[in-house]
Amino acid sequence: MTDGLWSPSLLAGHPAGEPTVLPNFVDGEFDASGTHFAKLSPVTGDTIRYVAEADRSMVDAAVAAARSAVRGPWGRTGERERAAVLYRIADELERRFADLVAAEVGDTGKSITQARTLDVPRGAANFRAFAEIVSTTPAESFMSATPDGGRALNYAVRKPVGVVAVIVPWNLPLLLLTWKVAPALACGNAVVVKPSEETPSSATLLAEVMAAAGVPDGVFNVVHGFGPGSAGEFLTRHPQVDAITFTGESATGSTIMRAAADGVKAVSFELGGKNAGLVFADADLDAAVEGSVRSSFTNGGQVCLCTERLFVQRPVFDEFVARLAERASELPFGWPADEATATMPLISHQHREKVLGYYDLARSEGATVLAGGGVPGFGDARDGGAYAQPTVLTGLGPHARVNREEVFGPVCHVTPFDDEDEAFALANDSEYGLAGTVWTRDVGRAHRAGGRLDAGIVWVNTWFLRDLRTPFGGVKASGVGREGGVHSLNFYSELTNVCVELS
Ligand code: NAD
Repeated sequence: MTDGLWSPSLLAGHPAGEPTVLPNFVDGEFDASGTHFAKLSPVTGDTIRYVAEADRSMVDAAVAAARSAVRGPWGRTGERERAAVLYRIADELERRFADLVAAEVGDTGKSITQARTLDVPRGAANFRAFAEIVSTTPAESFMSATPDGGRALNYAVRKPVGVVAVIVPWNLPLLLLTWKVAPALACGNAVVVKPSEETPSSATLLAEVMAAAGVPDGVFNVVHGFGPGSAGEFLTRHPQVDAITFTGESATGSTIMRAAADGVKAVSFELGGKNAGLVFADADLDAAVEGSVRSSFTNGGQVCLCTERLFVQRPVFDEFVARLAERASELPFGWPADEATATMPLISHQHREKVLGYYDLARSEGATVLAGGGVPGFGDARDGGAYAQPTVLTGLGPHARVNREEVFGPVCHVTPFDDEDEAFALANDSEYGLAGTVWTRDVGRAHRAGGRLDAGIVWVNTWFLRDLRTPFGGVKASGVGREGGVHSLNFYSELTNVCVELS
């Protein structure tokens, strides 16, 4: 077990003593052998722990353990039995709530309030939701006529796909991981999880949760490491992996798709976004400003669903941008453990360089910077962290790189528009198509938006609300396939149709 790794001192961005080593988890055993890499705190830049990198043989062992688990009793369990296991996992997650909060906050520097109200509760909610969905979704059946006037019964049998590789990013580590592991286990698969090298902790802690909840050895495995030439690539190219579910950048999705082609593996991809928010002059402006502050700056702007392109109807443009810029400038930069803190650092110095590069690029492309545009100063240990200011830009055209490329930081650009046709056209002028948000009081326009926006998710007068039974995914470069509710069951199952002649 990994006792002692979940110290509350992580909340302050440094370890209590010497940094400890985070192990891999293979076939029910923790294993910290092999080479170790450092995980730095985004808050202070200190090394908070070392992580055991899984080499090819450890990835092979994890896949072999998963294959043997799925061929064993676990792969033949009934849906209600698996649902009972998922409920136990959710209960155990809640028992480890404080440790999971420390793990998430330590790795990401996000505020303790967000980890307590979003990240960790959604981990438990994902397991409960898929326990419910798998035990209440009926099997398909059809009665059909035979050529000789008789009848035939057709019904579909759901079976596990087999070994599922789960590869996830660093922005909402536990939330995104459990969103995939819960339905995969609900359908009787075994998983090999590769968390981001930036956020290895909560996946390791989830291994403890699985063991305590009685999940059989080999059903849940964790391998740590990087992408190319490391655990990520070993996993996606592994001949014994049957399906890959991936969340991350569109360019990485494209690389993984090529790797998956060799084994004709099933893939589900949740990729990048360059999401548009549309504010019409008839909107409740208070709600639109507050909603846009949330949709652009939540989690340091590091959510695939964040709004980086805002379009505002001309009569309210000046008032909207002035209010948005004021709110962005006053977002409090506290320590993560301070409950009032609303901002967070970027995940790493490397990522901050990328985000600051876009701030500079925007200036050189002619943008007006209405808020932020740089790095905050603290006069304490946070000056060693990876903070960047929430930034509001105007003045660039649709072809500026800052309006086309995903920055994945606390930044939005605001453009005026005249009418609804122009607004939808501007929003759709993107290689991406993940989410769109519309602020309006016009009921007809609200419903038209769903049909007219090229996006997998359209929110009206809200942002980030999710019912886990609904389809989730992106169009264009933002993804392949849908997960959520029965869509997840379909990805994580093989369906065999049985046709029985009755006469
Ligand atoms: P990333 O693509 O760099 O990495 C994601 C994961 O893939 C990591 O675990 C990484 O180690 C692994 N990886 C990298 N290269 C690999 C390779 N060649 N083979 C196998 N694995 C590889 O993404 P990131 O920087 O960690 O996350 C940010 C990105 O994730 C943004 O683009 C964001 O929009 C996207 N994202 C999308 C969603 C969604 O639901 N659509 C949700 C969250 C984040």
